[in-house]
Amino acid sequence: MKTFSELNLVEPLKKSIEALGFTIPTPIQALSVPATLLGKNMIGVAQTGSGKTAAFSIPMITALIKNPQLNGLVLVPTRELADQVCEVIRSLTKFVPLLNPVMLIGGVAMGPQFRDLKRNPRIIVATPGRLMDHMGRKSVRLINFGFVVLDEADRMLDMGFLPQIERIFLQLPRQRQTLLFSATMPVQILKLTHKYIENPLQVKIESTPEQAPKISQKTIEISQNNKNDILLDEINTRVGSILIFTGTQHRADRVARFLLSYAIKSDRIHGGRSQAQRKRALDEFRSETIRVLVATDIAARGIDVDHVAHVINYDLPRASEDYVHRIGRTGRAGREGQALSFISGEDKGKWKAIQRLMKQSGKHDFVEQVVAAPASSRAPRPAPVQGLERTMSPHRPSAPYRKAAADKKTSRPFDRREPYAGGRERRDQPRGGFYGDQKEQGDRPSQATGANKPVFPRRERAPGATRREFKRW
Ligand code: AMP
Repeated sequence: MKTFSELNLVEPLKKSIEALGFTIPTPIQALSVPATLLGKNMIGVAQTGSGKTAAFSIPMITALIKNPQLNGLVLVPTRELADQVCEVIRSLTKFVPLLNPVMLIGGVAMGPQFRDLKRNPRIIVATPGRLMDHMGRKSVRLINFGFVVLDEADRMLDMGFLPQIERIFLQLPRQRQTLLFSATMPVQILKLTHKYIENPLQVKIESTPEQAPKISQKTIEISQNNKNDILLDEINTRVGSILIFTGTQHRADRVARFLLSYAIKSDRIHGGRSQAQRKRALDEFRSETIRVLVATDIAARGIDVDHVAHVINYDLPRASEDYVHRIGRTGRAGREGQALSFISGEDKGKWKAIQRLMKQSGKHDFVEQVVAAPASSRAPRPAPVQGLERTMSPHRPSAPYRKAAADKKTSRPFDRREPYAGGRERRDQPRGGFYGDQKEQGDRPSQATGANKPVFPRRERAPGATRREFKRW
């Protein structure tokens, strides 16, 4: 297939594809769409940015138009990716009535999702945990969902979603078309495909040297307490949007606050923020309203922001594979990108593991290594501008708590609230946000398994606060 017009697509879908400006299919689309339009199952090895969303959406929409009894389900690992995928499906169904795509993700209220589900959506884009929640409440029945897509399957596995995926597959009709996309093919995914996908067509898209992103990598050997100074210097000497990765939610907050105090427009995105806050931060970064986004590994995959010119690893990732995904956020859409990693004494082992992994994957990337000047020889950092960090959107307790705090009827010290630590972590896991991000409570079943129940810190209920408000707070 050389152009989309060669395909025998229905007119409204053709029109939407044209409206999106897609004329020539990307390699994954050219290889997979003709076969999947004929009803074949498929396993696709392709990176984000390869055009795989349209590669599975076009055959799904076509199948749903042809068979009015059929519905489509797209499972994705993160809420941000769900948002992105849903957006593409909405654009592709712009001229196709009655498909009503809806998004079911954690971290947001159930009410609007119940309302959406009452309108009989024929396409659901969901994260596994929230979908299981809906299945438990019987607001979703998967009996007619005969077109299933598993996107970023390897990421779902990393995030521990395998048990949920297996349970979801048990509820799906046996007669179905299944497409699976993954950036890598570890053994567990192969097992999953053997179990749930019959005779799949296998498509693998290797990036050619011309397509491979041009990312220059650099490391700075640095001491832990020097990081902020060097970060400030690096930001001031670079041009363009910057994505900074930290190891924990708490550190992401601290770095964002630090940057704001130096009048650098920034925000942060991590598992401890509400979905609305995460969406706003990402939207502002995408529209270049803010120049710097500080993130935990939640943003390392799937986020497609073309103009990220630099990725700075303030902390190295715990899992070596995440390094590749992190730096892959830059150098997108044919642009050049730069990746900088801060290596402190304790990071040396991690850095060696990352280099080993890069060698194994055949990416013998040259990394420029620099040692930071000692703090004593550096010019002192100017004083921050007082009060600027207050522009950072704070945590805001709900109305009864604000009132009670004003009336001093509760002992909760709002103004000295501890940095975000939990609600999402379990007592048997170390503190510090990492687990909170890897296993988002909002994306896991709250009822289905007792084991995953989050342990909330003890709090007082403010006088007059309803139980619901108390819970939300
Ligand atoms: P994806 O891998 O689905 O996230 O897509 C990455 C980017 O490629 C998105 O910005 C799409 O709009 C764009 N894209 C997908 N398919 C095509 C196509 N056939 N022609 C041009 N752009 C495309």
